[in-house]
Amino acid sequence: KEVLMQVDNLKKYFPITGGVFQRTVGNVKAVDDVSFRIHRGESLGLVGESGCGKSTIGRTILRLNEKTDGTVLFQGKDLYKLPKEELRRMRPKMQIVFQDPFSSLNPRIKVGQAIGEALYDHGVTDSKVVRERVLETMNICGLASYQYDRYPHEFSGGQRQRIGIARALIMNPEFIVADEPVSALDVSIQAQIINLLSDLQRDKQLTYLFISHDLSVVEHLCDRVGVMYLGSMVEMSSTEELFRNPLHPYTKALMSAIPVPDPTYKRDRVVLQGDIPSPANPPSGCKFHTRCPIASDICKQQAPEYRDVGNDHLVACHFV
Ligand code: SF4
Ligand code: MG
Repeated sequence: KEVLMQVDNLKKYFPITGGVFQRTVGNVKAVDDVSFRIHRGESLGLVGESGCGKSTIGRTILRLNEKTDGTVLFQGKDLYKLPKEELRRMRPKMQIVFQDPFSSLNPRIKVGQAIGEALYDHGVTDSKVVRERVLETMNICGLASYQYDRYPHEFSGGQRQRIGIARALIMNPEFIVADEPVSALDVSIQAQIINLLSDLQRDKQLTYLFISHDLSVVEHLCDRVGVMYLGSMVEMSSTEELFRNPLHPYTKALMSAIPVPDPTYKRDRVVLQGDIPSPANPPSGCKFHTRCPIASDICKQQAPEYRDVGNDHLVACHFV
């Protein structure tokens, strides 16, 4: 399978400044040495609690913020070595959909116009062509033609997310980062948006990085899933394998928190102790040791190796 996005040893640190002179006194290691691949046409899920670095990965691999270290190859090209002009030409191929599309919509600009904006930015000058493309895209995304001239406040949360998806789709992208696209929506609406994303993927051969704190959301859409904790990838495998056979204690804890439809089905509930430590000052050794139910001495001293235990199932734990 063709590798569309290849990420190696990616790091993204945010400096913490302090004191009278606002010197750098430390770093928040939002993404701390993460490697993975995304194949063309696949949907990779990224899960973990808020603050684990998922969104930062999404933004950094699109070069929407600058990396600290590592490499990001898109279609074999190093995004961080591309000249500005070439990066600009690549931009339409890589789009992002945010949790709250409303915040990125200008309240005084009609929705049809907002969806078509990027076409003008990339040199389409014929307003008729733009209008046609916008209407077609709106239609694909489940928005009606008459809504072209409506303003953002006239739309419901689910419809606004359709607008957000239409804005990403108008450029005919190959790769879309969807950053918690359904987290702000009612459960009934969530399914509609996930189905839309799934249909679009099939019809347009899209590749997704789908970010969510909710494992049950990625289960339906994603082919593979990566689990993150405090800036590190702790486990990654096919979705099926991960749900059937979670290996990392953190993944097991996340899994056990998903409500099961059948109450007679017994599952060991793993409840995590304590809060997530600060990524500015992560625990030594295995970063999960302060909350891990099976941690032992070696976990405090030595970071476990992230390794393939067979069948492309990667995990970082001393006791797997
Ligand atoms: Fe838990 Fe130790 Fe495994 Fe980390 S390495 S997940 S602390 S058992
Ligand atoms: Mg986030």
